[in-house]
Amino acid sequence: MTATIIDGKAEAARIRERLREKAQAFQDQIGRPPGLHVILVGEDPASEVYVRNKARAAEAAGFASWVERLPSETTEADLLDRIAARNLDPRVDGILVQLPLPAHITETRIIEAIDPAKDVDGFHPMNAGRLLTGAPGLVPCTPRGCLHLIHMVRSDLSGARALVIGRSNIVGKPMALLLLQAHATVTIAHSRTRDLPALARETDVLVAAVGRAEMVRGDWIKPGAIVIDVGINRLPPTDGEGKGRLVGDVAFAEAAEVAGAITPVPGGVGPMTIAMLLANTLTAAIRRAGLTAEQDLLAI
Ligand code: NDP
Repeated sequence: MTATIIDGKAEAARIRERLREKAQAFQDQIGRPPGLHVILVGEDPASEVYVRNKARAAEAAGFASWVERLPSETTEADLLDRIAARNLDPRVDGILVQLPLPAHITETRIIEAIDPAKDVDGFHPMNAGRLLTGAPGLVPCTPRGCLHLIHMVRSDLSGARALVIGRSNIVGKPMALLLLQAHATVTIAHSRTRDLPALARETDVLVAAVGRAEMVRGDWIKPGAIVIDVGINRLPPTDGEGKGRLVGDVAFAEAAEVAGAITPVPGGVGPMTIAMLLANTLTAAIRRAGLTAEQDLLAI
């Protein structure tokens, strides 16, 4: 193996510790901690785990944290009322509605009901538009974490060719915009893209956000490239028992022979997502309180 392994788990732990200090400084100045309110509708076990992890991380960083668990038959109108109440709640800096929602609730309507200043997922069209135009807003957590990991191994992306595989609103598109803002020359690939391996071979920074186990092979990677693997895929258990292994969208062992730096799965992008959620919550808190420590805060 030749590639540097980018340790997202260790970096996320470092960031969370820094955020704990910054949350304490915020509390000393404002008289209350930054607050994160998470709403979970229904009983999806994976969502339950994500929500629990987010709440635990928020508490460990000294944030105030609330989890509102609602039954799956909750109406859209009821959920909208609850979001409106949290929009007005002065203790709450960040509101996160865990996705996916039950089918009878329209996700876009819920996302658009959250006050953009409290939209710590960065999914509100106002924040998406700010990212597009380069104005300060709240940036989706996973791509923000990916950019941070890329900058750990390459601070200047001017002149770099970047390829983002995947064009979802939560990962692929905001990732491409962040790379563009960082002066990379960006290509976005998706399911209709032709000859993806050839595109990848010309790429200095490759971000895979597809959801297909080990799709990106070692012979797709340009020697020395930075490879960021967002995918989380569970392989079927080999012995028919247990949970099966977690793998990314990149064939890690093959790619690590060629890449300059690569994120593992697990332990790469995943832990950064929660760290960035807390960073976004603190950013929202600082802006709402009218403080100007933003530059310092973003230098985590
Ligand atoms: P989506 O399913 O919303 O998007 C997947 C994208 O991949 C689509 O744009 C799709 O193209 C594209 N795609 C599908 N097949 C191919 C193919 N054969 N070649 C090229 N592109 C293809 O997924 P998300 O963006 O929400 O998530 C992507 C992955 O990242 C998932 O594994 C998810 O679990 C993981 N994830 C991990 C997070 C973390 O914290 N580590 C956070 C969020 C997601 P098209 O648009 O044409 O359909």
